[in-house]
Amino acid sequence: MIKYNLKCENDHEFESWFSNSNEFDKLNKKNLLECIFCSSNKIKKSIMAPMISGSKSKDESDELFDKDSYKRRKNLIKLREHIEKNFEFVGDKFSEKVREVYYDKKTKKSIYGTTTPEEREELAEEGINLLSVPWVDKDN
Ligand SMILES: [Zn+2]
Repeated sequence: MIKYNLKCENDHEFESWFSNSNEFDKLNKKNLLECIFCSSNKIKKSIMAPMISGSKSKDESDELFDKDSYKRRKNLIKLREHIEKNFEFVGDKFSEKVREVYYDKKTKKSIYGTTTPEEREELAEEGINLLSVPWVDKDN
């Protein structure tokens, strides 16, 4: 089973599970997918939230996730600041860069960036597990 983040033409985001990556395309082509909020049939896969890689910082990130839920937003902001300060931003080159880090055992670089669901799936098949971070807005 694969989970995709989906987005409709009105920017509603929701998640949905599919048995494989072709199933999404098949159902979408037949207009069998609809937005859970507005029932629009114009659905596309949305870009994943920034992903991070790097063994050292992962534990720290997990810790920030574990706090009580009322602190969650504050922690997500802290997590975001932590990532921005300590991780190298590689943007949409993430899946390429994460392989470099993964296969070059000497590299202990921590990076973050964005991936598409397809890229993430490919990486998972190669045994590269990533942490998906809810990217909160600091300004509101
Ligand atoms: Zn919608």
